[in-house]
Amino acid sequence: MSSSLLAQNKIAFELSFTEPQAHYAEVQMNISGVKSAHIDLKMPVWTPGSYLIREFSKNVEGFKAFDQGGKELPFEKISKNTWRISTANSGKVKVSYRIYSFEISVRTSFVDESHAFLSPTGIFMYPDGQLNEASEITINPHETWSKISTGLEKVSSKPNTFYAPNFDVLYDSPFEVGNQDIFEFVAEGVQHEVAMYGGGNYDKEILKRDMSKIVIEQTKTFGINPNKRYVFIVHNFNSGGGGLEHLNSTVLGASRNSYNTEAGLLRFLGLVSHEYFHLWNVKRLRPIALGPFNYEQENYSRNLWIAEGFTAYYQDIYTKRAGLQSPERYLMTLAASISSVENQPGNRVEALSDASFDAWIKQYRPNENSANSTISYYSKGALLALIIDLEIIHSTQSKAGLDELMKAMYDEYYTKKDRGFTDAEFKSMLEKVAGKSFDDVYRDYVNGVKTIDYNKYFGYAGFTLIDDAAKGNDAYLGAVTALKDGKIIVTNVSRQSPAWKSGLNVNDEIIAIDGSRINNVSDPRLSEVEKFISSKKPGEKIEISFSRDGIFRKTELTLVRNPNHRFRIASVPNLTQEQLAVRKRWLKL
Ligand SMILES: [Zn+2]
Repeated sequence: MSSSLLAQNKIAFELSFTEPQAHYAEVQMNISGVKSAHIDLKMPVWTPGSYLIREFSKNVEGFKAFDQGGKELPFEKISKNTWRISTANSGKVKVSYRIYSFEISVRTSFVDESHAFLSPTGIFMYPDGQLNEASEITINPHETWSKISTGLEKVSSKPNTFYAPNFDVLYDSPFEVGNQDIFEFVAEGVQHEVAMYGGGNYDKEILKRDMSKIVIEQTKTFGINPNKRYVFIVHNFNSGGGGLEHLNSTVLGASRNSYNTEAGLLRFLGLVSHEYFHLWNVKRLRPIALGPFNYEQENYSRNLWIAEGFTAYYQDIYTKRAGLQSPERYLMTLAASISSVENQPGNRVEALSDASFDAWIKQYRPNENSANSTISYYSKGALLALIIDLEIIHSTQSKAGLDELMKAMYDEYYTKKDRGFTDAEFKSMLEKVAGKSFDDVYRDYVNGVKTIDYNKYFGYAGFTLIDDAAKGNDAYLGAVTALKDGKIIVTNVSRQSPAWKSGLNVNDEIIAIDGSRINNVSDPRLSEVEKFISSKKPGEKIEISFSRDGIFRKTELTLVRNPNHRFRIASVPNLTQEQLAVRKRWLKL
């Protein structure tokens, strides 16, 4: 329901931190120009970019409403995330509430004595039907904090105050408040701020240099970098990862002591590359369901394989183009991700477009059977980007590639039409750029579960996929175990494996194989069960004794040959001129 407020409402938020050690952010919201007898305030239930209902209103405490004279106004909660305030015809309404902020992630808020990270969908309420309203946000940092980093524009006349032209921009602009280490660089005319929380062994000069290279390479693709300013909020933890994209900022999780190794630095730069690419792909060029958003329910899209999968493909492409990794290393990483997709039984169960649609209940809510029943629209979507890139390059005689498709889509749907694209519009532009039908690709690989014919596409560039495991004769059980409280516990049973067929379950405690007790001495590389299986041959029978819920059981099974692939990408001998041209174009050699 929409309260009939007029458009001249003025909304101002003020945030304070009087008990940061207890993880609270205190919010005051002032609304003026109220013309109706009641007003409904709502808190989003999810945060764009992370497709899960998170119920942010669960963290709200101490909600109170006041009129302009400071008298308390009655209110009633009418849904899990809606507070209805009786305004008593007061033109101004003041609301206060606290947010308990103790969930460490790139999409949830966290406050302690060292800093406040504010993920805006879980902090700021909006008046129902008023998402287009502008607001001012004043941050009163705790007395021991001195810095505020956010993508929002500063209000020059007021200290620590920022301006959001509407709630979509506010919800797309996280805040880092504390004593973060800030450094800046300019690339492609854009001022970039990097706000490092949590310390770490990073070298600012190396990061400025390498991050600039990524910005330059990505801007080349679209010919335009739409921001004047961009903020990287980086949370450095003992062990961290993940990121969340925003319009002109991003939040990254990183491992504080891994910047000084080649692999650690490349991992961080890969994340930078991924999230930065999102400022075009997802934040502007986007599937139609992804903005403007409904903040109160799931926003379903069948195109997350484009939004996330293509971004996952490009994250490595750009670190390679920027010279931050060699083409050989790039091909090794690519082969490993093909192995990982093809070794996942769920790849033959769930289609990519379904994985996207069901992100809300599957990708973000994995369980012990996920590998058997689902496929990630990140990793499989990246492989679709790969074959589409190679197909366009091949069919246009190297005149175009995926870059041209992304630019054409950006120009048409973001710049010109200023809206999201439909499934059919994306396919139609793809076919236009490639000059051929993609019906079979959509039928088999997007909406179907057929195995990708990798060698057809790699063949265009004179490469071939070789399975180094094809000649192997390792015995295979199909159960993964982990040491928990000194017990060997099954954590995964692979679909159609001997373990699956014999009825071994997740959570079973393996006690003995062939009558001999299995030791629980743990070797981080190979469990005792794996050691035993590796001493056997395919076709051999074994008897596993295990305990399930305290009851002793036995099962007999026949080991099979390990069906898993271990791919590598190799060059074919005697490349044709055409293959060489495709390869040069694809790898920008
Ligand atoms: Zn992403």
